[in-house]
Amino acid sequence: MAFKIKRGDTVLVISGKSKGLTGKVLKIIPKKNRAIVEGANLVKKHVKRGPEGPGTIREIEAPIHISNLKLICPKCGKPTRVGFTFVEGEKKRMCKKCKQPID
Ligand SMILES: [Zn+2]
Repeated sequence: MAFKIKRGDTVLVISGKSKGLTGKVLKIIPKKNRAIVEGANLVKKHVKRGPEGPGTIREIEAPIHISNLKLICPKCGKPTRVGFTFVEGEKKRMCKKCKQPID
């Protein structure tokens, strides 16, 4: 099955602690159906003391399940469900709101 969300997409988080936040998809984890979204679902992570300096706490993005994300359509700018369509025999994603194919 083709993925509805891809790296580089802008998505809206629709559930969880980052609900309502929009961000860019930095990474997809296909095996887990999860994505890393820039600035969303931040968790604190301890970084051990190393050559760069003392130990510190950094915030990193934890993966979010794809079902908790909605694609922001690059054509109409609205959060939308993704469908599929064929353009010249090639399967493309499609915005269900404006019916435009999305790369
Ligand atoms: Zn659209």
